[in-house]
Amino acid sequence: MIVFDLLCTGGHRFEGWFASATEYASQKERRLLSCPTCGSDHVERVPSATRANLGAEPPKPPKVPAQSTKTPEMEGKDPFAIAQMLYSRMLDELLTKSEDVGKDFPAEARKIFYRESPERAIRGQATQEEHDELIDEGIPVARFPIPPKENLN
Ligand SMILES: [Zn+2]
Repeated sequence: MIVFDLLCTGGHRFEGWFASATEYASQKERRLLSCPTCGSDHVERVPSATRANLGAEPPKPPKVPAQSTKTPEMEGKDPFAIAQMLYSRMLDELLTKSEDVGKDFPAEARKIFYRESPERAIRGQATQEEHDELIDEGIPVARFPIPPKENLN
């Protein structure tokens, strides 16, 4: 809404509320504006005393960063360092949220896939051959080289 201070030819000053400046012009054009004191429809806007009421404007949505994974701690770091950081973080998550089944990994992954075992995240070791077999069966497994300091086994 926009509030215009209006002045009639009789010198009466009053306020008019309009959706927009265009709406004001339209109402003035159709002589819908009249002074509440004397009823005169010769009404002019007083230019200096306008103000906008922005109270009804919806709050702006929070700014979404272009890259959602980017955090202040990554500022100024080279992409390789950032990739290392993200990888390390993902690994931490993987290690803390998965169950270590060790050498039983291929068998357990298969059981989970065929719903013979409760569904959960597991980790463990598999040989190249075992890994390939799982992939061939369409079982979703992924290999992660774990840096020595992070290797909990
Ligand atoms: Zn008047």
